[in-house]
Amino acid sequence: MNDKEYLPLSWLSQICYCPRRAAILLNERVWVENVETAKGRAEHERVHTQRIEKRGEFLKLYEYEVVSEELGLNGKCDCIEATRADNGCIIPAVDFKVTLFPIEYKHGKVREDELEYKIQLCAEAMCLEEMYQTNIPEGEIFFISSHKCLRVELTEELRIMVRNAASELRRIREAFIIPEAKYGSKCKKCSMLEYCMPKVKKSASEYCEKLKLEAEEGECI
Ligand code: SF4
Repeated sequence: MNDKEYLPLSWLSQICYCPRRAAILLNERVWVENVETAKGRAEHERVHTQRIEKRGEFLKLYEYEVVSEELGLNGKCDCIEATRADNGCIIPAVDFKVTLFPIEYKHGKVREDELEYKIQLCAEAMCLEEMYQTNIPEGEIFFISSHKCLRVELTEELRIMVRNAASELRRIREAFIIPEAKYGSKCKKCSMLEYCMPKVKKSASEYCEKLKLEAEEGECI
């Protein structure tokens, strides 16, 4: 794994939302902001400052770097609650054993059906488990706007989804492919809509791309 690149853990939620979107972000390095993404980023940045809060035997670790060699992913966990427990693990921040409880912040209202959020949270927990040889049975998604939280059980089924999403992300990266667009209701909210052109047939979008390239070459002469 040392000669492989670690892929951003947060993009697991992108690939679950739409593989084409993840591939455009990963392979073409395109990021288009829309109202949803801007709002989400602003709320996220407000709660994000790297710090540790300690109250006796209870800690909150914010913006905690996580990595998994097995999954080939790295990223940051928004917040981890660490509570003293004899059956816990050792982490660098304290000299006693703790159990870990990861929390992922999201904007908007509570949405039970947001599988991609659960997959991201579970991936963070799996990184922590590998880093500290521990077991994390559950975590939480905190919805910033509504101040509500959703408890998530980190089941084996969810863990399989994480592994599958991570290998699909790596496959897209290594083969350098952009999957074909499949237009659906999710496209209306997608910030990549104009760039992706999901309603345009492949041959037509290729033709547009060819025209664009020819125009750019013409400008260079
Ligand atoms: S517009 Fe639709 S198909 Fe294109 S990247 Fe967004 S969600 Fe995927």
